Amino acid sequence: MTDDNQKEKLKQHFARRVTTQARVVLDTWQKVRESDDVAATFHRDLSAATDKLVRYAQRFDMDKHANAGETLLGILQRWAPDSPLSDEVREALQGATDELSQCTQRRSDQGLTEAPRTYLRTPIYVALCETEMAQRLIKQLEFFGFRAEAFEDADSLMDACSRHKPETILMDVNFGDAPLAGIATVENLQERHDTPIPVIFMSEADGSIETRLRASRCGGEEFFHPSVDPGQLIEKIETYTHGNTVEPYRVLVLDDSRAQAKFMENVLTRAGMTAHIITDPLQIIHALEEFSPEIIVLDMYMPGCTGMEIARVIRQQDRLHSVPIIYLSAEDDVSKQLHAMSLGGDDFLTKPIDPKHLIATIHNRGRRARSLLALMIRDSLTGLFNHTHTLHLLDQEIVRAKQKDQPLCFAMLDIDYFKKINDSYGHPIGDRVLRSLSMFLKQRLRKTDHIGRYGGEEFALILPDTRESDAKNVINEIRERFAELRQPAGSQEFNVTFSCGVATWQGETAQALCERADQALYEAKRLGRNSVVSATD
Ligand code: GH3
Ligand code: MG
Ligand code: MG
Repeated sequence: MTDDNQKEKLKQHFARRVTTQARVVLDTWQKVRESDDVAATFHRDLSAATDKLVRYAQRFDMDKHANAGETLLGILQRWAPDSPLSDEVREALQGATDELSQCTQRRSDQGLTEAPRTYLRTPIYVALCETEMAQRLIKQLEFFGFRAEAFEDADSLMDACSRHKPETILMDVNFGDAPLAGIATVENLQERHDTPIPVIFMSEADGSIETRLRASRCGGEEFFHPSVDPGQLIEKIETYTHGNTVEPYRVLVLDDSRAQAKFMENVLTRAGMTAHIITDPLQIIHALEEFSPEIIVLDMYMPGCTGMEIARVIRQQDRLHSVPIIYLSAEDDVSKQLHAMSLGGDDFLTKPIDPKHLIATIHNRGRRARSLLALMIRDSLTGLFNHTHTLHLLDQEIVRAKQKDQPLCFAMLDIDYFKKINDSYGHPIGDRVLRSLSMFLKQRLRKTDHIGRYGGEEFALILPDTRESDAKNVINEIRERFAELRQPAGSQEFNVTFSCGVATWQGETAQALCERADQALYEAKRLGRNSVVSATD
């Protein structure tokens, strides 16, 4: 390893320590917020955690964290340890912890931070007639890393919206205690904003088509009647937030004309896509492996070989079967075009290329390819990677770990007594638990980690660039938090736990690694469940 490389690694190591400590502070603050009678111990915990954060951050030159921590310490001095938390201090603490989570939230692909996506979202506003129900929902939402705020009347809601546009509003159609007053408020609100705020309506008594129509016309995305199902609500909100973060399409362009290739690169990049350009057909195999494109654009005529020949070679590889191929050519002879399409192409664009046409074609093809791919590699219940694809990813990550000389962890996770949940509450509630755990994992792991549904109620986690002790800590924290989550089932609630086995890759095959993780999982079950055991324990 070079000197620079080593320095960079050390830096990352320390950065992680600071962000981990920031997370401890944020979690402690959450506990303080959720309870109001044990102020003294919480005051001590929060101060100690923040103090440690400031010391770490100063030592490792992470100014933003240090400043945020110092602000927090300043505010904590205004809170006498044995007295209850005043509203003024509470608000100040909320502001300061928001600030801290802002600098903790950047989840870089180098694994610099390990903070969960908790705290980082724009808020969800809750405007319900029943305040108790609102508070219960807010708690649930917070477990999933959403920040939610309840409102008592239309004016304060409108005010808040103009200061800070929410991710979504959960609105009782009768909010304000007059029939349909909630819908009227939303209609009013939408007029003030250029882009509509997504709204989720609920109505206890009125599920009529007239009301549903009016709700839908003013931005109602969902209509819960007669009550809000927290699981469905969270899933719904989750889809909006995923919708906002569409990854750019990765487009590979092969054109022997450098000028044409440059032009394409320009057009694609300006449309927000990631373009990879090659001018030599013989580089295609290498480019496919390195760049793994989602869409391929091929020039028809090149010296040495034709686009059609290249397409045929591409299609000979199983995993590239569904990657769309678009031909570019000055050819406007339709029968030749048709012939080219029969050899594995999906579309044909004639030069000179109209940029608008090109982008529209790529968007259409890309969208379809993605949804097809999702069918192939994802589990339909949870949206996580399926068994086959998880193993494929594990193989890839093993190669990468070897190349980069980095640690790699694999974890198997199994819900405890899941059969009993099905038996007591029914299969659909069991399914909801599976989805809730999968969302929980997605929220709390890094973007570079892979999460798969391994089978029934078993999940697999692939954690690149992670040592066993770190993996164990992270999963243990997830385990504790998940066990606290109240799972709704009609008028009842219950808790669910899971057991987990973790193994570090030790140069073995993917299968051997899985087996060791599985044995550790078995051991966790044997020891009484609700625990994380590592293969080396
Ligand atoms: P343990 O703590 O030892 O893991 O006990 P368990 O009950 O969780 O394990 P067991 O393997 O005995 O039961 C797993 C149950 O999971 C049995 C099966 O009906 C149920 N299951 C598997 N897939 C699904 C699914 O997709 N949805 C639902 N609702 N249940 C499922
Ligand atoms: Mg189980
Ligand atoms: Mg099982």
